[in-house]
Amino acid sequence: MAKRIFEVLSIFPKMFEPVLSESIIKRAQEKKLVEINTYDIRSFTPDKHKKIDAPPYGGGPGMVFRVEPVYYALEYIKKIKPKIKPWVILLSPQGKKLNQALAKKILRHRRVVLLCGRYEGVDQRIKEHLVDEEISIGDYVLTGGEIPAMVLIDVLIRLVPGVVGDVESIKNESFENGVLDFPHYTRPENFKGWRVPEVLLSGNHKEIKKWRIRQAEKNTLEKRPDLLG
Ligand code: SAM
Repeated sequence: MAKRIFEVLSIFPKMFEPVLSESIIKRAQEKKLVEINTYDIRSFTPDKHKKIDAPPYGGGPGMVFRVEPVYYALEYIKKIKPKIKPWVILLSPQGKKLNQALAKKILRHRRVVLLCGRYEGVDQRIKEHLVDEEISIGDYVLTGGEIPAMVLIDVLIRLVPGVVGDVESIKNESFENGVLDFPHYTRPENFKGWRVPEVLLSGNHKEIKKWRIRQAEKNTLEKRPDLLG
């Protein structure tokens, strides 16, 4: 799989630094499996006071994210890698709700722009003319698109081959096989009388596999019966 490129457009690009410079996401960049670039949308505004918001036409509370800085930022992004067309995502509570299947679809695009909204939301013309897809991380409203963008980047990066060391760990994960993950145990075998299930200590891999499948089904039935259809 070719290197995946994430271009983040935000008025708070510094929010991304601590998240992108730790752990698996950091290593994925070091291994050149992914490239993540952040841009300050404010630097693309033609407004001499660097404003990127304005009051809504028609009146009402709050401010609206203006269309021009987003347009110019996207023009810039297109120009720096003209051969790799970006897929432009607006993080939005009105978007398609993110799940593992949708993440896999998004990952088909080699280069993804993540546009982080703020205020009362973005000017409708951004959605109509500049954005390919709106993505929501759930039915609740956050103050801005930065945390949703981080969630999306994290989900996508884990799916890039080579990022998570053991592919088996992804294959068995929740939502991968239409069920939740099975329970995990590690040392010690016995803590205050809370014992690890015998079968996991048996060394009988066939039985362990059967137990895990049964537990995954039980887990799903108890916690997320909707997944079983
Ligand atoms: N007034 C907007 C509405 O009701 O649809 C909400 C605006 S919200 C306060 C500001 C920004 O946060 C949005 O433009 C979006 O980028 C981001 N945001 C908020 N909740 C989100 C969610 N659940 N998923 C993705 N992005 C979200």
